[in-house]
Amino acid sequence: MRLRLIFSLIPFLTLFPFLPINAQAPAHRQIAITIDDLPAASAHSMNGAEINEMTAKLLAALQKEKAPAVGFVNERKLYKFSEVDDRIRALNQWLDAGFELGNHTFGHTSLNNVTLQAWEEDVIRGETVTRILLAQHHMKMRYLRHPYLETGRDLQTRRDAEAFLASRGYRIAPVTMDAWDWQFAGVYEDARKRGDSALQQQVVASYLTYTGQVFDYYEKLSRDLFGYEPRQVLLLHGSWLEADHITDLLDVLRKRGYEFVTLHDALADDAYSSPDEYVGEEGAGWLEHWAITRGRPPLNAPVFPQWVIERDKALPHAPPEAPIL
Ligand SMILES: [Zn+2]
Repeated sequence: MRLRLIFSLIPFLTLFPFLPINAQAPAHRQIAITIDDLPAASAHSMNGAEINEMTAKLLAALQKEKAPAVGFVNERKLYKFSEVDDRIRALNQWLDAGFELGNHTFGHTSLNNVTLQAWEEDVIRGETVTRILLAQHHMKMRYLRHPYLETGRDLQTRRDAEAFLASRGYRIAPVTMDAWDWQFAGVYEDARKRGDSALQQQVVASYLTYTGQVFDYYEKLSRDLFGYEPRQVLLLHGSWLEADHITDLLDVLRKRGYEFVTLHDALADDAYSSPDEYVGEEGAGWLEHWAITRGRPPLNAPVFPQWVIERDKALPHAPPEAPIL
């Protein structure tokens, strides 16, 4: 019997001589890329020429990787004396290159910090220039991203804001993957300005390692919640860290089996219509929303590297901007 079994396996082994035992195809995963705080997260400390240089580098990398992306704009960042045209040109680069733009409110205003009416006015004010640019490219404004992912302190406010957004033709752009690139980016940009390439490399290595941990964590949380991994939505920010290193980041994701899809395709996943009753003082990703809605707050999130927090705290930060009331 045993001999016959071995003989019966021979044709199979001849056909697949290199097939290792327990071989697994890479997981088939999909993710959409979103990039917030345009025209640049650090727009206050960059001039228009630098913003355009950074934007060109970021978009060239995304095009080369054939990775679609939606950029989310804070139009307040356009208004710097004698630079408005230059800053608008940076937004136009996105549309000229075939990417999409959405609204991130005019002044990066949290729904948790102002009245619903004030927040709605900031949403409308944030549409002014972007809508015109989109129309010139035969596109419409489709997405809104909540600043700080703060979606309202109570369910009534949250639902009222959702109804308001739907009435203006918006779909909310959720986030499921977030490795706090903005915090690495602050330290990176400071090192870049000072020509400290050793620190730049250290920041990039730490960012990519932490990204891997974040993906491990949220992929598992996804499987625990849904029994599969929904198409994910990644939150990044318009920064030199991403302009210089998004190819490295996408390599990490490709090795995990990800392909890059549009936000529209990602949101077609059934997961995005799951019940979501999350409210809170703090913004949170949508996997947390769904987990908390089910009464299962997630545990053991990876720990953000403390040294990056300390370095970031020590940097001179932009003066707080006047609240939009
Ligand atoms: Zn933002």
